[in-house]
Amino acid sequence: MTGYENGEALMDLFNPAIKAMLPLVPKPLVWQFARSYIAGEKMSDLVNIVKDLNGAGFLAATSILGEFVHKGIQAEAASEEYQDVLTTINNLGLDSYVHIKLTHLGLKLDKELCFANVKAVLKTADECNNFVRIDMEDSTCIDDTIAIYKRARSEFENVGMVIQACMRRSLNDIQALKGIQANIRLCKGIYIEPREIAFHDRQNIRNNYEALLRELLSAGCYVGIATHDPWLVEATFQLIEQFRLSPSQCEFQMLYGVESDLRQSIRDKGHRLRIAVPFGPNWYPYSIRRLRKNPTIAKHVLKALFKKYRS
Ligand SMILES: Cc1cc2nc3c(=O)[nH]c(=O)nc-3n(C[C@H](O)[C@H](O)[C@H](O)COP(=O)(O)OP(=O)(O)OC[C@H]3O[C@@H](n4cnc5c(N)ncnc54)[C@H](O)[C@@H]3O)c2cc1C
Repeated sequence: MTGYENGEALMDLFNPAIKAMLPLVPKPLVWQFARSYIAGEKMSDLVNIVKDLNGAGFLAATSILGEFVHKGIQAEAASEEYQDVLTTINNLGLDSYVHIKLTHLGLKLDKELCFANVKAVLKTADECNNFVRIDMEDSTCIDDTIAIYKRARSEFENVGMVIQACMRRSLNDIQALKGIQANIRLCKGIYIEPREIAFHDRQNIRNNYEALLRELLSAGCYVGIATHDPWLVEATFQLIEQFRLSPSQCEFQMLYGVESDLRQSIRDKGHRLRIAVPFGPNWYPYSIRRLRKNPTIAKHVLKALFKKYRS
């Protein structure tokens, strides 16, 4: 067993302990984890990272950390912050769109307020000739997210959403979106959902991902292929060949801080690669919630740190 695999085995062993102890972890220590996948707290931190990514030939996707706000005023503030980000991106000529979480813009408070907040972001994006993607959150949000996406899509061209391959319902969701030339990011899905509604087995999720991708490409949808899984990237290369897609007809997407040899193999084939970079002062509650909800992320982050210290 290599040192790296040793680290992985250790993490599997410690997952429950990590989850239980998270609230006790001091903020500076959580930051040691968070800093590898978050640009920083301020807009200037974000701008520096996006400039670097663009300079290295990557597209970017920016999001402000936050979700499940409790007050309407917080949801409106989030919408205004996104509009500021879009204006900054435009003024500086950066190559980045934004992606938003509907619970950050008030989905669980009031759907009409949420839609008004989304619309304001889309309008600014339109004025800046930019694009907005609506992230997919846990299974309690899927119906509302699709409804808001369809509503937004009837008024704006510059909007996309996300489909999760772990969800059993996703093929039906794609079929229901076919008529509107949806722009879709396809990912595995980060939330832990019950077996009745979600696949848990790694290979089943991959197989469903491949089937969904085939369905989206057959429907002529533009797809953001969001994965760091070499198996899926290889399967995607084959589908791209089968569908005779040019590099401008789809793109790959990865998370900031997940350094992977795959990046080069994707670029060697002439494909575009977009890196998703979150930022903002809410990194602490976001990181703790993320880590608690899915200790696999803690495992990924620690694996990445382990790898970094060994190299
Ligand atoms: C651009 C982008 C946007 C996303 N948007 C959403 C969304 O809207 N909704 C949603 O539910 N999920 C979203 N996700 C998360 C996604 O659903 C998966 O949980 C995540 O990408 C891990 O799956 P994987 O396909 O990379 O495969 P995995 O098999 O999980 O990962 C493959 C390898 O990549 C590395 N890796 C993966 N994730 C991380 C990480 N976080 N840190 C360090 N290393 C890592 C590990 O080395 C791992 O072995 C998004 C992912 C990306 C890349």
